[in-house]
Amino acid sequence: MIIDLFRRVLGRKARIVDQPRLRVHALAQHGVRRDQISACALRTTDALHKAGFEAFVVGGAVRDLLLNRAPKDFDVATNATPDDVRRVIRRSRIIGRRFQIVHAMCNDEVVEVSTFRALQGSSEDDQAADEHGRLIRDNVFGSQEDDARRRDFTANALFYDPRKQEIWDYFDGLGDIQARRLRMIGDPAVRYREDPVRMLRAVRFAAKLGFRIDEGARAPIRGLADLLSNVPSARLFDEMLKLLLSGHAVECLRQLRAEGLHHGMLPLIDTVLDEPEGARFVNLALTSTDQRVADDKPVSPAFLFATLLWHQVRVTAARIETEGESAVPALFTAMDAVLDAQKVKLAIPRRYDAVMKEIWSLQSRFLQRGGQRPYRLLEHPRFRAAWDFLVLRAEAGEVEASLAQWWEDFQDGDDDARAALLVAEDRPKRRRRRGGRSRRGGSDEGGGNGTRGSSDDDGEDA
Ligand code: ATP
Ligand code: MG
Repeated sequence: MIIDLFRRVLGRKARIVDQPRLRVHALAQHGVRRDQISACALRTTDALHKAGFEAFVVGGAVRDLLLNRAPKDFDVATNATPDDVRRVIRRSRIIGRRFQIVHAMCNDEVVEVSTFRALQGSSEDDQAADEHGRLIRDNVFGSQEDDARRRDFTANALFYDPRKQEIWDYFDGLGDIQARRLRMIGDPAVRYREDPVRMLRAVRFAAKLGFRIDEGARAPIRGLADLLSNVPSARLFDEMLKLLLSGHAVECLRQLRAEGLHHGMLPLIDTVLDEPEGARFVNLALTSTDQRVADDKPVSPAFLFATLLWHQVRVTAARIETEGESAVPALFTAMDAVLDAQKVKLAIPRRYDAVMKEIWSLQSRFLQRGGQRPYRLLEHPRFRAAWDFLVLRAEAGEVEASLAQWWEDFQDGDDDARAALLVAEDRPKRRRRRGGRSRRGGSDEGGGNGTRGSSDDDGEDA
């Protein structure tokens, strides 16, 4: 036990990587060829080289190519200033105020070009941190070595020179990639304090790349997790979205929980996952999202957040109903309450609210399978999303599988098949009604309650 602790403490100390030692790896050692670099990135680095500057492909693209994965995008780092880059690359524009970068534009590709940057300012004024150590500014140009040092993980700090097909490596990132290890540059605790989002990045990269977080980088996370509450909520939301859309959402969420990072991220999800029914639905939703990413199908953030918050909406609506409210108003009140509550920490942008609410509120309309209503629902612009949502609910055992099947048959059927389904559905319903009329007032659509319910009634049972 004590030996273990000793080893851990020593190990952590020994593993801190802050002495850069440049190694230049030739093609034979790393295998990344020039023709694997995007056309726009090549044009950009070639133009900068021709003008006498240094230019490298950097960061995630180099890492992904070494792992035989297709990079999401290509970033370039250079010793040319933004104004230099602007002059050298005709179709480009400077963006950003705090730290300027240049967007080089080709046909359908944009490459981000940034000037080598230092973390440590030469004067006190160049670098500012808040009382928790979080960096507020880091806006000084630096050397390539400085630029490597300011990056988060060694695997993300590799520079690829397309001209010579060399990889420039200051912190043995190549070794770490080969060992599938995520190692922080510098003292991990300090780096997390500077930018707590790095803790979430560690989890995302580990899950996505199948890497192990080096013990030195993993150990401080639990103790520093609360620092996430100092991160602006818009940034937290962006990172959460990256996590959920990484194609490894299930694994990301598992690791977030394992590292104690989930509290700050999705306060409501926390309670959901502790209840078997909620957890089942969320896991199904995330599994299906991961599958869609793997299949290169589009994923809608609004749909995803609708699934993550659904359990809470249901529980809240049920509670309001027990206080005497009828179903539809209870649902609407619950939707607003849930959306407001989670906005305090995780700023799900308002623009997603409308879609989430539509997906939720359409669920009760799937219960109505007679008359003109199913035809009208089919025409609804959000039908497809609401139906996908219904399928997940059926898989989670929240509604009968036969209901989802009915809607599948109805969508796929021709006119006759659809009419036959309607009849089949109407008969038992009529019989039930004759026996118990009171059901109408308490139905999901809240028929007796408002104009919406009664207008939907026409055409039914006529
Ligand atoms: P992805 O495949 O998710 O885009 P990436 O490594 O390219 O992965 P980006 O967020 O696009 O990640 O950032 C590009 C590079 O900038 C990273 O590889 C890393 O070197 C550096 N970087 C990004 N965010 C941080 C951060 N918070 N702290 C330190 N370095 C960072
Ligand atoms: Mg990137």
